[in-house]
Amino acid sequence: MAEESTANATWSRMLAGNRRFAEGKPTHPWQDRETRESLIDRQNPDAAVLSCSDSRVPPEIVFDAGLGDLFTVRTAGQMIDDSVVASLEYAVAKLHVSLIVIMGHEGCGAIDLATRELDDLISSATEDPASSLEAADAMDDLDERILEADSIILRTVGLSIWQAREAEVESHEDIERVHIAHTIEDLVTRSEIIQDALAHDQLMIVGARYQLSTGKVEVLSF
Ligand SMILES: [Zn+2]
Repeated sequence: MAEESTANATWSRMLAGNRRFAEGKPTHPWQDRETRESLIDRQNPDAAVLSCSDSRVPPEIVFDAGLGDLFTVRTAGQMIDDSVVASLEYAVAKLHVSLIVIMGHEGCGAIDLATRELDDLISSATEDPASSLEAADAMDDLDERILEADSIILRTVGLSIWQAREAEVESHEDIERVHIAHTIEDLVTRSEIIQDALAHDQLMIVGARYQLSTGKVEVLSF
């Protein structure tokens, strides 16, 4: 597939950039005046990246990329909402990116916050039940309670954490990985444009987890 090899080539190039960055040998490509001037009238990015807003995780730096290379969308905990979906759809439908990277990271504070909010919800749901059966019922409809929560972070990141717990995933690292997988699933479910591009082999979506401690991007396969 032509598009698939374009996406693979783009991803290989991004990972090569990440290796340069992690080794402390970034080349800071395409950041000169000539590049800026050549991009005044158009952009033709190869990939879109949805990553956390965390100040330590800027995609252009982590992938040693330049002007015009990456179309980036960033929210805390790479949460998805309608604006994020619309932005990524724009990248696919109008800019024709062949690759979307969903990137979480080590030590994500949004996951810590969502974990606390989830624990609070669980304790309020199971507080003083008249019977253990009632407590079990309260846990049974926890999915619903999470989805009806006022907190956006609980509805998105918190739901991933709950799903991870149901699958007996315990470690912070693995919960981060589950959240990335869940985010990809959520994006595809929400967007017909993205489903269509995937079905026509015009798009590849990859999951990634940036390691603050090494500077390396871990490639996730689901
Ligand atoms: Zn984060």
